Amino acid sequence: MILSCARCGSPAAAIMTFSYPNSSVWMDDLVNGVERHGYAMCADHADRMIPPLGWTLTDRRTVTRLFAPLSVA
Ligand SMILES: [Zn+2]
Repeated sequence: MILSCARCGSPAAAIMTFSYPNSSVWMDDLVNGVERHGYAMCADHADRMIPPLGWTLTDRRTVTRLFAPLSVA
C-alpha cells in the first residue's frame, strides 16, 4: 500500500501524528510497511506544516536534519 499526502495526493514522505492531551504534533519519517495512526503527508506539505495555536510541533524526521541529533529521545 502506497500512502499519499492527505492534502494533495502526492506520494507521502512523512507521517503526522498528534496528541490532544499533550497539545503536541509529531512529524516522522514514513516507514514503508509500518502502519501507523496519523496523516500521511508529502515532503512539501510536511515542511509547511504549522501546528494549531498553542500546540507544539516536533519534527523527528531524519531527512531534514542538517546535523546529527545530540541525543535520541
Ligand atoms: Zn502534499
